[in-house]
Amino acid sequence: MAKLLEGKPIADKIKEQIKQDIASLSKGLVLASIMAGDNAGAEAYVRSQKKTAEGLGIVYQFHKLAGDIKEEALIAFIQKLNSDREVNGIIIQMPLPGHIDYKKISNFIAPEKDVEGMHPANMGKLVFANSKILPCTPAAVMELLKETAIDLYGREVVVVGHSEIVGKPLALLLLDKFATVTVCHIGTSKAGKLEEHVKKAEVLIVAVGKAGLINGEWIKEGAVVIDVGINRLGDKIVGDVEFEAAEKRAAFITPVPGGVGPLTVTMLMRNLVEAAKAQG
Ligand code: NAP
Repeated sequence: MAKLLEGKPIADKIKEQIKQDIASLSKGLVLASIMAGDNAGAEAYVRSQKKTAEGLGIVYQFHKLAGDIKEEALIAFIQKLNSDREVNGIIIQMPLPGHIDYKKISNFIAPEKDVEGMHPANMGKLVFANSKILPCTPAAVMELLKETAIDLYGREVVVVGHSEIVGKPLALLLLDKFATVTVCHIGTSKAGKLEEHVKKAEVLIVAVGKAGLINGEWIKEGAVVIDVGINRLGDKIVGDVEFEAAEKRAAFITPVPGGVGPLTVTMLMRNLVEAAKAQG
């Protein structure tokens, strides 16, 4: 039976380090959060960010903008925060209203205030392995892997999902550890090859958003399984991996909820501290 890899105890340890880092900076930290329009999911995420920030003594500056805000007005708002010396980091809550292009908008956040690590300049630094600001969810996955003490060198690591926010940056972080990385996506599934790849994974990381996508019987004996997926099934939240069958085979497995999620927000705060240090 697998050992449960829970995010909260790891997040608590990292928060202690963050508190020490903040104490050694001679300034208070401010995280500016922008939300356009209403969205229940984003509001829950905002509450969690605010609670975590305030628990660390960080000022969480929340800006709720109209859902019909024009792209140019949103860009101007971001630019105002870019030049505000009090603000150390900026986060844009997703989803944005349909008429706004996130990829375009995120380019306007000053890279030194991009605490989500999604600006192309910060993404580019990932390729050269010299960024202290890492996209939050991939960074959370790397912390969970660290906790297992697994040496990734030469390991068969399979990532399912190739989104810009999770799968792609995660593949780069794993390559830095000399893992043998296979990235599966919709093309893999359509070619009928997902099972074949998952079965060889010594480390399996799934970030798709489809409950039951990964059959628990496919898990290699003794594998490490990190389930990033979040799916609502009635009043239950589940991941992408069939948990009950998978936990019988894996050595480590993340619960959903309670695995990756609690660490992601902590990684955002760690990025804020790194951003503040670099700002001097
Ligand atoms: P996304 O942008 O929708 O990406 C999903 C990825 O899965 C895409 O690469 C997609 O490929 C691929 N995919 C879709 N169907 C597939 C299939 N049948 N087989 C293999 N790959 C398939 O989602 P995301 O933002 O990366 O998030 C993924 C999941 O993680 C969601 O459930 C999200 O809620 C969760 N999440 C959790 C956290 C956390 O902190 N716990 C953070 C971020 C995300 P195509 O694009 O080519 O279709």
